[in-house]
Amino acid sequence: MRLLQASLRIFASPLIRFPAVRSQLIPPPTSATKVILKSAPAIPFLGSFFSSRSQSESQTSKMAPPPDNRSEDEWRAVLNPEQFRILRQKGTERPGTGEYDSHYPSQGVYTCAGCNAPLYKSTHKFKSGCGWPAYFDSIPGAVARHTDSSFGMERTEITCTNCGGHLGHVFKGEGYPTPTDERHCVNSISLKFTEGEGGGAKAKA
Ligand SMILES: [Zn+2]
Repeated sequence: MRLLQASLRIFASPLIRFPAVRSQLIPPPTSATKVILKSAPAIPFLGSFFSSRSQSESQTSKMAPPPDNRSEDEWRAVLNPEQFRILRQKGTERPGTGEYDSHYPSQGVYTCAGCNAPLYKSTHKFKSGCGWPAYFDSIPGAVARHTDSSFGMERTEITCTNCGGHLGHVFKGEGYPTPTDERHCVNSISLKFTEGEGGGAKAKA
């Protein structure tokens, strides 16, 4: 009997301590953070929080090679010279010349011109007047961000998460009346538009 009590005490004590230890080790529940992030785009002030958060998330993905990890020669074989210059060598098309600069379809998806991964929906696009297609948001997880310190500036480069192809840059806090106050400034050459696929993707999800 005394033995049973003793073993119960031993057994019980870690149980009492355990929740306290766990709460120290585990940061605040991520589910609560996600709820805040989801509602953030509607609130301009929190929009900047949302932006910096998604930046730090995707910068971790920079460590690993993209899933579509084709060699330079393989890309040269499937891309035309201008696509190769922009997607694989981080070039920029001249402003106002791109196929999708003044392209505002009601429904559809812009996919990566390199690997075909869906990147933006037509509903993400807005008129920025900057000379390149502009999107205030992307399909979740489709676009990765990296710090770009070229040309003596600190900018945020955006690439296709799936193949690492260069899309353009993202700018925030410019005051556009969009839910995120972000502008994904994307080369048309990096994109391919498919009409109506947005509806299909929605039905699947
Ligand atoms: Zn891609």
